Amino acid sequence: MGIQTWIPRASATETAGKALSAAERLTTPEPEPASPSRGDATGDEPPPWDEPPAWLAEVPPPDDEVPPALNDADLFVGGAAARSGPADRVASLDWPGLESRVAACEACALHRTRTQTVFGVGSRVADLMVIGEAPGADEDRQGEPFVGRAGQLLNAMLQAIGLEREAVYIANVLKCRPPDNWDPRPEESQQCEPFLKRQVALVRPRVLLAVGRIAAQNLLQTSDPVGRLRGRPLSLDGVPLVVTYHPAYLLRSPEQKAKAWEDLQRVAELLRA
Ligand code: URA
Repeated sequence: MGIQTWIPRASATETAGKALSAAERLTTPEPEPASPSRGDATGDEPPPWDEPPAWLAEVPPPDDEVPPALNDADLFVGGAAARSGPADRVASLDWPGLESRVAACEACALHRTRTQTVFGVGSRVADLMVIGEAPGADEDRQGEPFVGRAGQLLNAMLQAIGLEREAVYIANVLKCRPPDNWDPRPEESQQCEPFLKRQVALVRPRVLLAVGRIAAQNLLQTSDPVGRLRGRPLSLDGVPLVVTYHPAYLLRSPEQKAKAWEDLQRVAELLRA
């Protein structure tokens, strides 16, 4: 893999057969200013691109429980190149096959401590696919990615560019919760990588959004911190990839929300292209 710079591709054939694209949804002409209760992604109120959304100004109450700090110290040393065995066949699975394969996975030690696997959620024909790190306690309980406080902020971030949660596809690098929310270990990410790659291949998104260091570093096979990856024209297998801060980090560091807003505007721009 490695870091790839994004070069626009012809989208007409690639989007053929897909549901109404986010670009179409985002550019639906409508003079009304957007309100905080803006409608869903197929609604007719385009977001005010030049106005900061409400979540930018929200600061968590001081006694909020927040996940452990993200840090840039851990270098990802993984890669699928050396892997062989049953994981290779994941690349040919359809959605039901992939889902049951993930649910039954015991390839790493995380299966012993999980309540359930957390596969992914949302539109399987989405134009935008959001990739996070790993399930936390809430996600492990509910079996759905980004359902905790970070998930609520993610939803608000998506809404700010006119996308309801249901209109995008959301998945994680890991499908099982690491106990105590530890950073995914290289062997865990490697075992899960074919699942995520297959999800991307099946969804065929037009844009990928990596939220947080772990997602970005795993997807791009780099140890660069988010601060150096965001704002750059990146791609993964030809799909434009935008890197931004993890919503859990933004809850702790609200002063970084303005940068995340810039990244989201870039996503919107790519979806409109
Ligand atoms: N953080 C993630 O990266 N993914 C989730 O599903 C929840 C929190």
